[in-house]
Amino acid sequence: MREESCIFCKIAAGEIPSKTLYEDEEFRVILDLGPATKGHALILPKNHYRNLFELPDSEAEKVMVLAKKMALQMREKLHCDGFNLVQNNEEVAGQTVFHFHMHLIPRYKGDGQIIGWKPGKPEEAELETVRKTIAEE
Ligand code: 5GP
Ligand code: ZN
Repeated sequence: MREESCIFCKIAAGEIPSKTLYEDEEFRVILDLGPATKGHALILPKNHYRNLFELPDSEAEKVMVLAKKMALQMREKLHCDGFNLVQNNEEVAGQTVFHFHMHLIPRYKGDGQIIGWKPGKPEEAELETVRKTIAEE
């Protein structure tokens, strides 16, 4: 399952060279070309899915197991102090390559990177409205 014009399909298949950290039948983990920090990597499924909304459960559960394995390996080898998992879906959320990927970002004290958001201050009633909208039929 691949899309001809997709660069991550080509990288995942090994047709375009990449700095590969890990590979199995379903996934390739590569170093990001524009790293936030030393070791910033991407988990790519070899099958093409646009993003999380299209990712099958069977692959979704393996992505998290693989993310944990890579995080432990990077902590051991790179001695990072912390770790961010980032996963963007659709342009509004910062997705720029439309083939599912999970960012693995080792964090180091004083690395100067900011991965975050501006916290809101909702009233309890607003939170309850949102809760109902999402959770109730
Ligand atoms: P997004 O913004 O879609 O969540 O993340 C796309 C990521 O892919 C960016 O961090 C960018 O640096 C990385 N990237 C884009 N093109 C390539 C490429 O050809 N090779 C590699 N290794 N990373 C890429
Ligand atoms: Zn693709």
